[in-house]
This record gives sequence, C-alpha cells and structure tokens, in this order.
Amino acid sequence: RVEASVIYTSTSEDFFQILVLLYDVTEIYAVEKMQMDFLSNASHELKTPVTAISGFAETLQAGAKDDPGTLNQFLDIIQKESKRLTELIQDVLSISRIESQSVSQRKIASIDLAELVDEQLRALQQMASVKHITLVNQIPAGTVQLTDESKLVEVIKNLVSNAIKYNREAGSVTIDYEATAQDWTLKVQDTGIGIAQSEQARIFERFYRVDSSRTQQVVNGTGLGLAIVTELVHSLQGQISVTSQRGVGSTFSVSFPIKQVQ
Ligand code: ADP
Repeated sequence: RVEASVIYTSTSEDFFQILVLLYDVTEIYAVEKMQMDFLSNASHELKTPVTAISGFAETLQAGAKDDPGTLNQFLDIIQKESKRLTELIQDVLSISRIESQSVSQRKIASIDLAELVDEQLRALQQMASVKHITLVNQIPAGTVQLTDESKLVEVIKNLVSNAIKYNREAGSVTIDYEATAQDWTLKVQDTGIGIAQSEQARIFERFYRVDSSRTQQVVNGTGLGLAIVTELVHSLQGQISVTSQRGVGSTFSVSFPIKQVQ
C-alpha cells in the first residue's frame, strides 16, 4: 500500500518538474487494522459476560428469585460470568501493558532458569494435582541472559498452565532446555489432547480457541493466553513455535538469542 504526496512542482518554457514522495504504508495499515480488530473483538468478548450478568440479575429481580432452585442456578451463572469477565479484563490489560512498554525499559539480567522453572512448577502444583498430572523439570543447572525476567515468568506460567489444562488425567508436563551457539530454547511438552495441524497457527491469534466441545465446555479460558505469550516472547527478541499431534500431546518451544541486545 502506497501513499503519495507532491512536494515540489515547477514549470518553465521547455519542461515541467514535479517531485513526488511515495511512502510504503503497508505496515502502518496492517498494525492499525490489527488494533481495530483487537478493539472490536475485545468489546464483543467483554459484552458477552456483561449481558449475561445483567440479564440473569434482571430476571431474578422480576420474580425468578422466589424459586430457590432458579435463584441458586442463576447466582452460579452470575458468579461464573463475573469470573470470566475478570480474567478477560486482566488479559486485555496485560496485552495493552506489553504494547505500551518502551524499549528503554529493558535491562539484561542473568537468570537461573532451573530455579525459575521450579518456582513456577511449585505454584502450579495444586492445579496439576487435581488432574493427577506429574510436572517434570529437566532444565540443567546454569544461567541464561535475558532482558526482563518477569516476562519469562509470565511465559512459563501461561505455557505450563495450558499444558495442564489441555492434558489428560494422570498425564505429564515436561520442561526441557536446549542450546545452540546462537540461541537457547525452553520446551514445554505435554501428553494432552493435542492440536490439529490446521489449528496450529491460529491458536496464537487473539481470542482464538479451538472450537471442539472438549476444550470449550470443559476448560475455561479467554483465548488470549497464547497471544500474550507471543507478544512477550517477541518483546524479548525471541520466537515461539508448536509441534503437536491430536490425542498424543503438544510441545511449545520458545527460543531466545544467547546474546541479548539491550
Ligand atoms: P485459552 O487457554 O484461554 O483458551 P490460549 O490463547 O492460551 O487461550 O490458547 C488458545 C487455544 O489453543 C486454547 O483454547 C486451546 O484450544 C489451544 N491450546 C493451547 N495450549 C494447548 C495445549 N497445550 N494443548 C492443546 N491445546 C492447546
């Protein structure tokens, strides 16, 4: 996409001169479109629980509260939708936070990866225990260099909680580490439901959730987790990818350059 502006013209008896500047605005338009799509998706997603909450509350006020069964059922729905609204607001806010963070805020830190992963696994242990899932940390001792440890914590938390959420009963989640001369990679491998090839690129989009009854009904989520992870990884100069097989499991890999640029 190109925009043009004429910045100089002159005419003489023999010839006519014109100076035109052409701007390549493809990227600017793409970013603007992404922001517009995000806003319209976000307002749609936020309206859904609000409509449910006010609708059920109104129905209760109109008389449905007199039936104890209906009262309890509607209160449950109101509570569930409020929780969903809170999660959505938190996720939308964290996307806006990452987008507004300036490059100058980055500082390179030396991180003990094995310890950091241990801490996160401890925090998620209870969630795993409910489904009898084993969490395994295979990261060797040593440190990595990274700008902003808190972003990496957020990435690990999101990937491991997905690996638990979309896992089978008594499955496992293994965190692994690999390094080449150029970059290091953290891998989160699960034994869960897996992701069809056709869905593997889409799961990183904002608000996208795999539309299978298994994931939509049984597992709560906003569809923003992996979009947040992707933004965090990119802001740390890294890359994210997934390999997966339906019914076998998925492996999410995040790679970062060994030499961080501040
Ligand atoms: P959420 O978990 O809130 O739905 P995410 O953005 O984290 O949102 O994930 C998007 C979708 O990708 C999920 O709804 C799920 O269908 C799929 N997904 C994510 N992680 C996994 C995983 N480890 N195994 C299988 N499916 C997954």
